[in-house]
Amino acid sequence: KQVKIQDMNQIISSLHPLLMAQAFKRDQQLITELGNVAALALDEHEIRQLLLNLVNNAFDAMEKGGTVTIQTYSEGDQVILAVCDEGTGIAKEIQSQIGIPFFTTKDYGTGLGLATCYTIAERHHGRIDYQTGPEGTTFYVAFPSAEKR
Ligand code: ADP
Ligand code: MG
Repeated sequence: KQVKIQDMNQIISSLHPLLMAQAFKRDQQLITELGNVAALALDEHEIRQLLLNLVNNAFDAMEKGGTVTIQTYSEGDQVILAVCDEGTGIAKEIQSQIGIPFFTTKDYGTGLGLATCYTIAERHHGRIDYQTGPEGTTFYVAFPSAEKR
């Protein structure tokens, strides 16, 4: 496990070409809004995996033409990574099940994406929340700054 103090924005930027290619293939848009955030103790491979899982879910949730927005910003002494989509939201009936390994509503889903995200967030002493509704879903991953954990 390769943990070092580094910039979240840098990791997101390094994935940008791949994410843009995915958006293009799906006829969807991707917007990245990177704020001024503190460097954190991060495992780059895990953060890339986390981001890919969240962004792929966001793309999957939308029709053609939708926009996924990735944001970073600081809130108190936390760094927040937010992934926002314009999908139809997560139905109430399944909200207690998402993140359970192998739970999927997709024909070819593995149901492992969110479970992996929760594990990765935990390994970084962070937490995942989401807001969802008929206009879309936003997943928030909050990372405590290195000194505060
Ligand atoms: P998979 O993507 O293989 O289905 P995940 O663990 O990534 O597995 O997601 C589990 C389920 O959570 C998905 O099948 C979907 O029903 C729901 N879900 C996850 N992210 C979103 C989202 N952004 N919008 C709507 N539903 C979502
Ligand atoms: Mg997934």
